[in-house]
Amino acid sequence: MGEKEGYLPFPRSFETICIHNSQDPNQWISKAVVPHIVPTTVFKIGDPRLPLKYTYSRFGNPNRTILERTLTAINKAKYGLCFASGISALTAILSALKHGGHIVSCEDVSPETYEVFNNVAPNYGICATFTDVNHMENLCSAIRDNTKLIWVENPTYTTLKVADLCTIANVARNAKILLGVDNTFLTPYLQRPLDFGANIIMQSMTKYINGHSDVIMGCICTNDRELSDQLQLMQVASGLNPSPIDCYQVLRGLKTLNLRMDQYLKNSVTLANYLRQHPAVEKVIHPGLKTHPQHDLLKTQASGHSGILSFYLRGDLAQCEKFLKHLKVFTVAEMCGGVESTIQIPFTMSHKHWKRDTKKRLMISENLIRLSVGLENICDLICDIESALEVFKQEPNCQ
Ligand SMILES: *Cc1c(COP(=O)(O)O)cnc(C)c1O
Repeated sequence: MGEKEGYLPFPRSFETICIHNSQDPNQWISKAVVPHIVPTTVFKIGDPRLPLKYTYSRFGNPNRTILERTLTAINKAKYGLCFASGISALTAILSALKHGGHIVSCEDVSPETYEVFNNVAPNYGICATFTDVNHMENLCSAIRDNTKLIWVENPTYTTLKVADLCTIANVARNAKILLGVDNTFLTPYLQRPLDFGANIIMQSMTKYINGHSDVIMGCICTNDRELSDQLQLMQVASGLNPSPIDCYQVLRGLKTLNLRMDQYLKNSVTLANYLRQHPAVEKVIHPGLKTHPQHDLLKTQASGHSGILSFYLRGDLAQCEKFLKHLKVFTVAEMCGGVESTIQIPFTMSHKHWKRDTKKRLMISENLIRLSVGLENICDLICDIESALEVFKQEPNCQ
C-alpha cells in the first residue's frame, strides 16, 4: 500500500503474542486451547497459610489475568490493568494523582474525557486546562506549579490532530509531570507511546481492541511501579474491575486486531480519496493522507492510521442531516472502532453540550462529519455515501 510507506514497522510477533500469550493449554487440566471462562466470584481457600493466587473475583480472576498480561506485552509495558470502562480507567488515574492538582489536556479531546476532566476531576480537587498541546508556547504557559499530568489524545477526537509525543514528553519530564496518552484510536498495533516517553497509556477497549461493539472496557499500561500499585488499588478496592466474561470477549477480539486495523486503514484511505474528489466535500481530514498537515509526524510515531476520518460538507446543518438520513449501510451513532461503519455530526451529537465558541475554535462546525469506517465491502460504503450525497445536487446553493 502506497500510503503505508515510511511508517514505523509493525511490532514484531504482535499477532503471535495476542493469540498465545499466557494461554498455554498445558497449564489447565482440560488442556483447552481457548482459556475457560471463569465466572466464579469466589475461590476455595485450601490452606489459609499458603499464598493464594485467587480469592475473590474483584481482587483477581484468571480471565482478567490473561488479558492484562497480553495487553502489557503488546503495549511494551511492565504493568497493565483492565477497568470496567475507558472512563473508569481515567477515574483511576485521577485518583492516583492524589488529592489536589492540575491537568493540562489537549483541547480537541473526546467528549467523555472532557466531561471527566471538567465535572468529575473537581471532586478530587483537580482542575484541568484545555489547550493546543502541539503549540509549545501554549503548552508551557498552561503548566502550573501544581500540574501533575499532561493528557494527550493521539490523534485527537474530531479534527484528528497528531501530537508530537517526543517533544511533549520532554516538556513533561523537565517539569516532573506525568504524560498520559489516550491510545484508543491507534491501539498498540499502530502506536506504542511508552517508546516516545509517555508514562501512562490509556485505551478504551470498547472501540478497536474489542472491536465488535459488544463490550465496554478500558485499560492502562505503564512502566511505573508506584503508579501501577495506586491504579491497582483503585481497580480492586474501588471496584472498577471488569467482568470475567467481558475479559474473555476482549481477548477474543484482540486476536484479530491486526487484521482488522490493516483493513480499516485500507478502507478509510480509499473512502478518504473518494471524498476528496467529490464536489460536495469541502475538505477531508485523514492523518494517513499526504495532505494531512502532520502526516510526516505520524509516520515517525506510528505504524499506520485507523478507520476514523472527518470531512466538511459544502452545506448547512439541514443538508448534512439530510445526507445522514439517506445513508443505508452507515449507522448514525456516536460509536467508533466497531466492524460496522458509523457516522455522526459532532456539532449536534457528541459535542452538543460544548460551548459554541469552543466548537468554533476547534473547527467543529455544523458541516463537520466524523465517521468510523467499518469492515463492510468498500464499494458498498462508497455507493452508500455517493447516493446520500445526491441530496446536495438537488440544492442550488452547494455548487
Ligand atoms: C470512547 C472513548 C473513551 C471512553 O471510553 P469508554 O470505554 O466508553 O468508557 C475515552 N477516550 C476515547 C478517545 C474514546 O473514544
